[in-house]
Amino acid sequence: MVSDVPTPNTAHSSPLRYEEVTKDEFAELAAKFEFREIIGGYLLRGICPRCGDAMEYFHVDETVRDAQRQTAQKPIIEMVCTCVVAHRGQGPDAHGCGAFWNLSVEEE
Ligand SMILES: [Zn+2]
Ligand SMILES: [Zn+2]
Repeated sequence: MVSDVPTPNTAHSSPLRYEEVTKDEFAELAAKFEFREIIGGYLLRGICPRCGDAMEYFHVDETVRDAQRQTAQKPIIEMVCTCVVAHRGQGPDAHGCGAFWNLSVEEE
């Protein structure tokens, strides 16, 4: 059983509850994420647009090979918050605050 003992949160003055939500503005804010291409995919680092915590997201790149036959198609990365802050209401396997959004990658 998960105990519902409030844990002190020193990083935030107003901790958010875990909630699976998305908003258009999340994607806009996440466009500022640091974007790196690494072996096997992309690494995105930045601040979660919902909870404001630092997070990293590794996206396994499966789209590029398929996209090669469809030029000018931007891959869409489905991102979720992966911050390490314990947001209240998280399930046992959940992490982050529950925010999710789609990020379209600008390719040169
Ligand atoms: Zn968070
Ligand atoms: Zn978050």
